[in-house]
Amino acid sequence: MPAERAASAAEILGADVATQLAEFENTVLELDLFLAGAELVEKTVVPMNENEFKKFVASADPELLRSPNWISWITPAVQPSKKDFREYSEKWNAYGSPSDPWQPSADSPRYWYCAEISEGLPEHEHSEAVVCPGVHMRLLGWWLTHAWRFVDLATTAVASLDSWNVTVAALASRALIEEVACLWWESDELFRSWRAAKHAPADARDLTIMNLLSNQLEVFTFSQRGLESIIGDNDLWQALNILTIIGKFAKRMASDGIIAERMSGKELEDNYAILSNAAHPAFGARISYAAPWAEHDHGATRQRRLSRVPNEVDAVSPIPDIAAKVILVVGGIGETILWQSLRMIDDFGLTTRTGLRTPHSYWRKLVPASKSSAVCPCGCGKWRTAQHRWGQPVIELRLSRSSPLNEGQ
Ligand SMILES: [Zn+2]
Repeated sequence: MPAERAASAAEILGADVATQLAEFENTVLELDLFLAGAELVEKTVVPMNENEFKKFVASADPELLRSPNWISWITPAVQPSKKDFREYSEKWNAYGSPSDPWQPSADSPRYWYCAEISEGLPEHEHSEAVVCPGVHMRLLGWWLTHAWRFVDLATTAVASLDSWNVTVAALASRALIEEVACLWWESDELFRSWRAAKHAPADARDLTIMNLLSNQLEVFTFSQRGLESIIGDNDLWQALNILTIIGKFAKRMASDGIIAERMSGKELEDNYAILSNAAHPAFGARISYAAPWAEHDHGATRQRRLSRVPNEVDAVSPIPDIAAKVILVVGGIGETILWQSLRMIDDFGLTTRTGLRTPHSYWRKLVPASKSSAVCPCGCGKWRTAQHRWGQPVIELRLSRSSPLNEGQ
């Protein structure tokens, strides 16, 4: 059968799906506009042992050390037992007691953290002023990395379906599942840690933030798979297997009624398996450009039609439909989580008052409002009713409700 003409993506996928894809693309564009020009220098403290601290004092510019804004905070610190690179590993390992790696052992050595803080802060704020701005910058860096990656994958997935580049659509939508599952997993950990820190006793806030958020970000940043021989270190942090993360994400999707109605957890895992077969030169790739097999009535022969772009009468492989559904459902969840995560990070910055505690400027360094009637700089509503105070609740991480930043205004 000769091809009359190549069909458009809207004809093949259906007008309804094409409209939903266009709407989704617009919301991704809004996120992309929000990100325009965003860049960040992460500046974070490095733990120094006594010798390193003395060396730092000896070598630092005397003017700098005389400045009342450079302060040091001495503490036993805690780190999970796994480590990233050698120069930190000896210090980190020395902290944890054998029974509980999150608690300093009695003979934990002390470490010095030094940073430049804002002028005139009372002494009881010094430790938080040393710790919190660096953690805030790292949270923002973590978020930006996810957001940029999400936008890259989502826009490529939609565009490649539109131009009927089936292989790239399969690759990008499969990668979108991995990205959103990982984003959800890491967000969930960070939300829980921030909740614990926000409710910690006043004298334990700094250490709780170091032990939970700072260390988690360290693990997220340096975890890898299969790079041991390249880096020449057999004791690197292992990134969680992506199939494990997707399995957990599928369970979470199943527990959300609105999402489960659109795609069950089992369907997500099935779609991931099929797209993986299309992303690799395996079965899915062999059917990407083919209509299903048809067997002749007499049973002796079978045939299928192969074409780069099907014509309107062709039956099409299931790959593009699966890619479209994944983009719409999983992409929608990704956007929801990104906006909520940014709200959580804003909450961290405003509750810990990093905007007033460090002289360094950085992207989304929000300064608490000075009047209770003012609008909260994060956009959550009036400063009076904002929940950016120690001991107040942290928003719940949801999959199916979008939380634009101006919600509540
Ligand atoms: Zn707010």
